[in-house]
Amino acid sequence: MALEILLATRNQKKKLELQELLDNPGIRILTLEDIDHIPEIIEDGCTFEENAVKKARETAALSGYTCLADDSGLVVDALEGKPGIYSARFAGPEASDHENNEKLLDLMKDIEVGNRTARFICFIAISTPGGEVESVYGTCEGRIALAPRGKGGFGYDPLFIPAGYEESFGELPASIKNAISHRAQALKKCQPILAKFLGL
Ligand code: IMP
Repeated sequence: MALEILLATRNQKKKLELQELLDNPGIRILTLEDIDHIPEIIEDGCTFEENAVKKARETAALSGYTCLADDSGLVVDALEGKPGIYSARFAGPEASDHENNEKLLDLMKDIEVGNRTARFICFIAISTPGGEVESVYGTCEGRIALAPRGKGGFGYDPLFIPAGYEESFGELPASIKNAISHRAQALKKCQPILAKFLGL
């Protein structure tokens, strides 16, 4: 029988990313789309790690599956770490990516190019149904552009220029983003934990 892991997300792109990285047909990856009785877990922690651990632990306990959950966002030095854990709802509870980007640019309008450093952070927690949890994180350093650039990606991608590049994540091919992103860095660190929890 295939080993199974549940991702605490409905985002099929996250499923594909993990599938590619694990590259193991013996592991079946499920998402919340495949399980109909798991309620939305409220992300009320004070850190990315707290939110990821809470989501993984509660989803694993409710579903009976070993569960992987992530929490990520953008941290801007000149804004003392904002938008941070509030990245998705920076401009309000139902804010669009465009509104969040506009708010960020507005808050940074007087900040010169050399002081626009930022990073994406991703924490991933993996929990067994019994509550054994481990977490890892990945980061991607960069800077905030003066205006949105490119139509690729999502969220703050048009404003984020990763270190070592002159183009934003909105302009760079997805293959480059997927190789260097905060999520990719964190996912790479998950393999030994999954091996331990799934008994590979
Ligand atoms: P989530 O925890 O993966 O749902 O991400 C929360 C929020 O952080 C998203 O709604 C985006 O605003 C921002 N974010 C996280 N990862 C990325 C990324 O790779 N590119 C752009 N924005 C991101």
